Amino acid sequence: MPELPEVECTRRRIAPDVEGRRILEFASLWPRKVFPSEGELSRRVQGQKIRPLQRHGKRLILPLSDGSAVTVHLGMSGNLEFHRHPPREQRHLRAMFSLSRGKLLFFDARKFGRIEWHPSLEAARAGLGPDALDPALTASAFGSALAKTRRPVKSALLDQSLVAGVGNIYSDEALFHARIHPLAPASSLTPARLARLFRAVRAVLRASVCRQGTSIDWVWPGGRMQHHLLVYGRTGEPCARCGAAIRHLVIGQRSCHFCARCQPPRTPRTPQGHRRRTSG
Ligand SMILES: [Zn+2]
Repeated sequence: MPELPEVECTRRRIAPDVEGRRILEFASLWPRKVFPSEGELSRRVQGQKIRPLQRHGKRLILPLSDGSAVTVHLGMSGNLEFHRHPPREQRHLRAMFSLSRGKLLFFDARKFGRIEWHPSLEAARAGLGPDALDPALTASAFGSALAKTRRPVKSALLDQSLVAGVGNIYSDEALFHARIHPLAPASSLTPARLARLFRAVRAVLRASVCRQGTSIDWVWPGGRMQHHLLVYGRTGEPCARCGAAIRHLVIGQRSCHFCARCQPPRTPRTPQGHRRRTSG
């Protein structure tokens, strides 16, 4: 399933071909996944120029010249491709933007993706927390967002309304790097541990963007990050850090991989006598 790095790679790949192009026509072969409706989206985008593409979390945003925007959610298996001429192979083609030069095609085998028109850029980002790779996002803002909930930190990381862009693979990897147990209540983590998690999330996402994402099935070919995953999908294999077997849990219906030795359930408490007060 495409997560932030895969969506970012998609944005970078198609941007040079679609930015500045005018949309002549939109057509969908799967109108159930077009919002508000295929007819309205077609009317709204016709004649608009595509401004520089943006991404927020896993949402790809096509800002338009009149201030409105189209978002594309790749879902489980969606992909956007630019073609100068319509390709011969059109299996799983769900929608098509005809541009002033070439076509932007949306393929989606499993049909979990969606295309949506919004009256403004702000509306295109509605419901999402700050983007995990936003240069303006600070460790303290990230920490405050997660600390709002008592849910397991694994679930908090997957909640796109808190921080946008972290999915199942990269949340497992980030928690491993930050040495945090996935079931630890997010609100129980100290600011220092949340800051460590923040750095781990950013490092893992950036590394994956550099490696063209993770290719673990047919959905996203060409990525190299799968060779650098330390816990995700490695149940039973020895931990790269300590040698203990990687374990698997299901948290909120999502699979989770971790090392119980490197990510112990509770932080060892500092002996009372050695605790220092930093203020007061
Ligand atoms: Zn370990």
